[in-house]
Parts: sequence; structure tokens; C-alpha cells
Amino acid sequence: MKNRRKSRQREVILKVLRNTDSHPTADWVYEQVKKEVPNISLGTVYRNLRLLTEAGEIMELEFGSTYSRFDGKAHNHYHFCCDVCGRVFDLDMPVIEELEERARQAGGFEISRHRLEFYGRCPDCAGD
Ligand code: ZN
Ligand code: MN
Repeated sequence: MKNRRKSRQREVILKVLRNTDSHPTADWVYEQVKKEVPNISLGTVYRNLRLLTEAGEIMELEFGSTYSRFDGKAHNHYHFCCDVCGRVFDLDMPVIEELEERARQAGGFEISRHRLEFYGRCPDCAGD
């Protein structure tokens, strides 16, 4: 029943990520998953996060910091990163999808991906 245990671990990790919009680190995911799967190791969480990312179920976000954050929403969307509190907010901006199409048309390029992040102060932090 080793495979069943493995898929159960993966399900819990996916559920934790789908139920938050905080774009957590692997360590945070590990702390949450441990509540349901007490004997899980951090290494197992990392391995499953990688597998889920490769399967397109989740996204790994690299904002140039030393550790990655993970996103339970796998569809293409954008992020605002607050320089003060460090929170990461979702931005749905279909207009940017149009820009990719324009870039494609402009040069006949075959575009596989693009990246864009917004930085600044969130509403909670902007008042200080
Ligand atoms: Zn903030
Ligand atoms: Mn997101």
C-alpha cells in the first residue's frame, strides 16, 4: 500500500495549497500538511511540490528571493509583491495575455512563456 500512502500525501499537499491564497513557502506547506500527515518529512513535501509543479497542478514562483513560493492556482495570472510586509497578491489581468499575442504577431515568434511581477506597497502598508 505504499503507492496509496504516496498519493494520499500528494492529495493533502495539493489541498493545503488550493485552500490558501498566501503563496506559501515549502516550510509553511510542511507545517500545515503535518497536521494531517504527522509522519511526513520535509523532503517528501519538497519532492511532491516538484512533482505537482511538473504536472502543472501548481506553480512555483521565483521572485528572485532565495526560497520559492508555491501557488495552488496553476492558470496564468500575475502577482503583486509588497516590499514592506512581503505578502504576494493575485492579479488577474487578461490584457497582459493580449500583449503576449501581440509579441507573437510582431515577430512571428513562438512564445512559450513570459514573466511579469509588480512590486511596491500594498494598501495595508502604503499608509505608513
Ligand atoms: Zn504590505
Ligand atoms: Mn497566485
